[in-house]
Amino acid sequence: MRGTVIHSPRDIRFETLDDPGILHPTDAVIRTAATCVCGSDLWPYRGLEPIGDPHPMGHEYVGFVEEVGSEVTSVKPGQFVVGSFATSDNTCANCRNGFQSNCLHREFMSTCQADYVRIPNAQGTLVATDEVPGEELWPGLLAVSDVMGTGWWAADAAEVEPGSTAVVVGDGAVGLCGVIAAKEMGAERIIAMSRHASRQELAREFGATDIVTERGEEGVARIKELTGGIGADSVLECVGTAEAMRQALHSARPGGNVGFVGVPHEVAIDGQELFFSHVGLRGGPAPVRRYLPDLIDRVLSGRIEPGKVFDLTLPLEQVAEGYKAMDERRAVKALLKP
Ligand SMILES: [Zn+2]
Ligand SMILES: [Zn+2]
Repeated sequence: MRGTVIHSPRDIRFETLDDPGILHPTDAVIRTAATCVCGSDLWPYRGLEPIGDPHPMGHEYVGFVEEVGSEVTSVKPGQFVVGSFATSDNTCANCRNGFQSNCLHREFMSTCQADYVRIPNAQGTLVATDEVPGEELWPGLLAVSDVMGTGWWAADAAEVEPGSTAVVVGDGAVGLCGVIAAKEMGAERIIAMSRHASRQELAREFGATDIVTERGEEGVARIKELTGGIGADSVLECVGTAEAMRQALHSARPGGNVGFVGVPHEVAIDGQELFFSHVGLRGGPAPVRRYLPDLIDRVLSGRIEPGKVFDLTLPLEQVAEGYKAMDERRAVKALLKP
């Protein structure tokens, strides 16, 4: 089969690789229907995360089941499936507590920008749709496998409630999906922080009521202005830089909550400041599996359209251009079709 391999910063190659097979009775192999490039793939691409030996890339996927191991009974060949970027058995104590992305048997997906993918823990990880959805729904379902699930977790962790005010820091695909989540959870006011016209437009379409273009302490001052001087009830931090985290913590009101889902890079938190702020903080890799059935339903019914975050669609073999376009911010998110 063909698949994506990163060799060094900005060196993404599309190569012939071994076909994946069933290695464990709990595995499945899927034929990729659609996959994509994630904002987090750009960290190694930009040389901001060590790469080590050349290795495959990709953790977001929807596909058709090809083959299942002997212990997999929940899905069968031919079915269309959606899964999380973090695999889970969905039975251990952490899974039962709703933190499937901290499953005791967790394996992170990392080979999805390819024609075929082996899915560990398939029984607990994959959710099949009742029938094969129309191709126009695949981008939305693909978004559910990570960015929509992660945006939902950001809003959930930030405890967005009906009638509340939510701020979304970050206008990448996760931030935009965070706007969708805040809207679905009933936030009355949703303030998106963005400097890019096309992203602002999509944020508004998804439910943002206000746009703040200022950053850093100026951005915080603007949020305070919009919230009666005290800050927002909920803040979704969807970037992962020190500046974004500082902005998020300073934008929340005393007693408010920050949900942080951007993978932190050089983020340090001042204990004294957090203590005196009365801000609640929770984050981590999204327990996407917890939300999958609900989010799949919302996409299939047309209630939400997170597939709109894909503003570039390429044949899988042009994956390197997908990385490049996202790196240069010519695209929010690139969808890849085998
Ligand atoms: Zn991702
Ligand atoms: Zn588990």
